[in-house]
Parts: sequence; C-alpha cells; structure tokens
Amino acid sequence: MRLLAPIVSLFGAIAITVASPALATRAGTPATDPAFGRCLGSLRGKAATAGVPGAAFDHYTATLAPDPSVLELLDAQPEFTTPIWDYLAALVDERRITQGREMLTRHAGTLAQVEAEYGVDPATVVAVWGVESDYGQVFGKRPLLVSLATLSCAGRRQAFFQGELFALLKLLHAGDLSAEGLTGSWAGAFGHTQFMPSTYARIAVDFDGDGRRDLVASIPDALASTAHYLKRAGWRSGEPWGHEVRIPAGFDTSLAGRKNKRTLADWKARGIVRIDGVPVPASDTRAALLLPAGKEGPAWLALRNYDAVFSYNAAESYALAIVLLADQLRNAPPQQAAWPTDDPGLGRDQRQQLQRLLLARGHDIGEADGLIGSLTRRAIVVEQQRLGIKPADGRAGKKILDALQSEARPAHVNESNTVPDSSDTER
Ligand code: CA
Repeated sequence: MRLLAPIVSLFGAIAITVASPALATRAGTPATDPAFGRCLGSLRGKAATAGVPGAAFDHYTATLAPDPSVLELLDAQPEFTTPIWDYLAALVDERRITQGREMLTRHAGTLAQVEAEYGVDPATVVAVWGVESDYGQVFGKRPLLVSLATLSCAGRRQAFFQGELFALLKLLHAGDLSAEGLTGSWAGAFGHTQFMPSTYARIAVDFDGDGRRDLVASIPDALASTAHYLKRAGWRSGEPWGHEVRIPAGFDTSLAGRKNKRTLADWKARGIVRIDGVPVPASDTRAALLLPAGKEGPAWLALRNYDAVFSYNAAESYALAIVLLADQLRNAPPQQAAWPTDDPGLGRDQRQQLQRLLLARGHDIGEADGLIGSLTRRAIVVEQQRLGIKPADGRAGKKILDALQSEARPAHVNESNTVPDSSDTER
C-alpha cells in the first residue's frame, strides 16, 4: 500500500514517482535541530490526546533527527511515464510467478486456515504479498519513525502524517511491533503487507496466536491481515475477479472505466464476448470494462473482487498486476491479447541482463540490480542512438535488449574455442 499511487491515464501511460540521485540526500541532520525539537514538543500533547502516553512518546522520539529527503519525495514530480506493459512486465514476471508458487506450497497450511477464516483464496493473498513486498524481500529501507516524524513537522500533509505517526507509536507502545530496525517506504508503508500505520491499526490481525499483530516478523499475521483487508473491502468468496474479453469492431470505448458499471446482460448485448469462448451470462451481475491501453489493447470485464483489490492501492495498473499474478499462481490461462506495442516490456531478470550488457559496453550505471534509474536510462539513450533505434527515449524494452544481446554474441561461431570479440566493449 503506497501513499502516492501510480496513476494510469487513458492512454495507458502510468506516472511513477521516482527518486533521482539528487534527491537521495543523507538522513540525519543534527539531532539538535531546534525547529524539529519544538515541533516534537507540540506533538507530545496531541499524541497524548490520541492515546500515546507522554513517557512512550518521549521514549520513541527522544533520539530522532529529521530526514529532509522525505520532504523532497513528497513533492517530487514524476520524472518519466512508463507504459502499463512495462509496469506489468516487471511486477508479473517469471521470478515473481515462480516464487509465488513456492510460497503457495510452503505456506499451504496457513493459507488454507486464512481462506477458511476470511474467504479469500490463497493465490490472491499470495499475489498481494508478492506485489507489496516481493514476498517479504523488500520492506523499504527508511527508518519509519524518522520519516513519519519529519513529515509530521514539515511539508504539505502534516496533519495526515501526524495521524500515522501517532498510530505507529500506539502500535509500538502496545507491543505489537518492535521499534528496533523498523523501516519502510519514505511515506510510512511497511512490513510484508506495506500497510500504513492507521490501516495496520484498523486491519491487522494476530493469526499465529502470540498475542501480537506483527506484520514485520510474522508471515501468518501478514497473510491473514491481507485477507482481512480484502474481506473488509467487499471480497466475495468463490467469485472470480473478472474475465478477459474481446470488444467488437466500432465499440464505443467511452463506456470503459472501472466506475462505469453495467450488467453482464448489457455488456453481452453490446457484443462483448469472453476471450476463452465461454458466453458472457445474461445476468444482472454488475461489471466494468477495463481497457488500460485503449481499444487496441487487452480488455477485461472486472467484477466486485477486482474493486476489493483496487482499494488496496487505488491504482488500476496495480490492481491488474495483482489479479493477473494471482491468475498465474493458480495456473489459470494467462492474458491472451497482446499489448499494443512492438517493443514489449522486460521482467526483472531481463532488466538485469540489459544492465550487464550496458556495463560491458562501459556505461557507468552502478550495479545490475534490475531497477531502471536515470543512469540506466541515460546509457540506453546512448545505445539507442548508436544503434539507430527510435525513439531514443531511454526505455528498457525488448528491442534494445535484443540488439545488444545479438551484438554481444560472436557473429560467426565456427570453432569451439571462438570467444566473443570484446574489442568494442571497453570504451
Ligand atoms: Ca502474531
């Protein structure tokens, strides 16, 4: 759950807030920052009103120093737009599908209990976990109390973040969480489920029975809390999230959109058919038509459970990533229609391959970590220009990967000891 959701436009481009290297200033200005100290003093009384005893407030805030870099992230504008197929290629890639299937097996017992209690199927719960924290591998690196205290004392959303800070302090004071090493996103989402503290306070459950709701250290607590969230958001047990469909030629695409609900009978009458050939029932079940890349791209009829997933982060691309990943985890047919591009997006392993090829060509882009930052983009622009790939936009797609890969291979392999010509890789 992120505070600033990626927004999908009607044109299928999504805006993602990205930290540029210039924004990555160091945390920890002097602890004696007088304005910050005065702010904490004033928050102490408000916190008491919100249910945080003064002694607890002092205990957890005494050594905090503000981190101005989170304020820059709060106001950061999207640096570039990413097509939805790039976003989905990275979130629903082979690695996340393989690991998700492993998690389904490893936690089968817990997931069955979770389904019995909340009515949400294992594949959906695991898909949320995979998208939120990569199955507990990515929690966010920023000290949580520092970020929330900073955002509570400066910036344009102080009242909101004060509420989150007080919610976190109450969770710490109640003993649900340990403050030591507690990190999260810059905006305060944390743990396996990336809940904000107020959501955590409202939704988190103790499922392993140790008396603590711990979504950082307990996988059973995290899986059950995810299912609890979806149940509270209106999840209907046993129903599908939706179906991939085909729209007829000349279809009025202004009818699309998550909020434009019509009955399945109505969609059927307008010529919409399921892509797997199963007839759309002429029922009064309400559904929305999703065309995230316009009429030339894939189409889905989304039912009530799609909305439950959507509410987790309020972004269409995000919800699609979860339901499409869940389909893969339960071995349902993958998306059939192609995205309207001749240059498909890359999964994380392919992104790392691309970065290794860029490094081999002498581009100083740091580690091949699969994250496409401004250094990688700049290197891609140079290579696109050199290879005549248009537009030279710095996008990490299949075209540039294929071009660099075919260059890296020897042109003629006639002998067993032929090695790639590396004369042009060290510039
Ligand atoms: Ca617990």
